[in-house]
Amino acid sequence: MGTAAERREELKAVWQQAQACTNCPQLASTRQTVVFGSGNADADLMFVGEAPGANEDRQGLPFVGQAGRLLDTLLEEIGLTRGDVFIANVLKCRPPGNRDPLPQEIDACQDYLFRQLELIEPRVVCTLGNFSTKLLRGDPSTGITRLHGREEIRRIGPRRVRLYPIYHPAAALYTPKMLDTLRADFARLPDLLALEPPDQPEPEPELVVPEPEIALEVEREPEAAQLGLF
Ligand code: URA
Repeated sequence: MGTAAERREELKAVWQQAQACTNCPQLASTRQTVVFGSGNADADLMFVGEAPGANEDRQGLPFVGQAGRLLDTLLEEIGLTRGDVFIANVLKCRPPGNRDPLPQEIDACQDYLFRQLELIEPRVVCTLGNFSTKLLRGDPSTGITRLHGREEIRRIGPRRVRLYPIYHPAAALYTPKMLDTLRADFARLPDLLALEPPDQPEPEPELVVPEPEIALEVEREPEAAQLGLF
């Protein structure tokens, strides 16, 4: 899909577009910032959370509150930093009062996430909790309790990735057993990253427009009339 530098430029254009987004009138009117995501634009590993909270909304960065600190610790435990990965969310704007994302908000925002996935080209996509897992698996009925810690190869847009659902760090903050499970699931990430990247689908054949067999005589406007248009 282009060099890393080209994909990064394109990602910046999507970032710019998201900054002015008003797809969700309520969220656009209550947000302080659009939290697009941050990290390495050419990362092998991408995390997808749910939506920004109050801290994220203030700072414009994902996972900067308590759940973010836990995410940093878990990353450190496997020898990674935020600079090695890309972190994004299903929603780019904070739902007021930290309510759950609404289905119409997920629909309205999902193209940003799909573009991010297409341009960053991660091999492993780690979904944090139910919202991102359900969206990226395209299956709203199977939840994280059943799926966590089980990787699968999934096609997302034009690419195949290893999708790896794990518990959301915010859910594990106050539940020691869940934190143990999250830590154990996290510990498998280096092995997943060391696997061969998934085979990619054949690129779609380019649409070839056949040349007309008979060249049509086009009546040409006088040159002076054309010049006036620009
Ligand atoms: N929870 C999320 O899902 N995303 C954030 O950015 C912060 C908390």
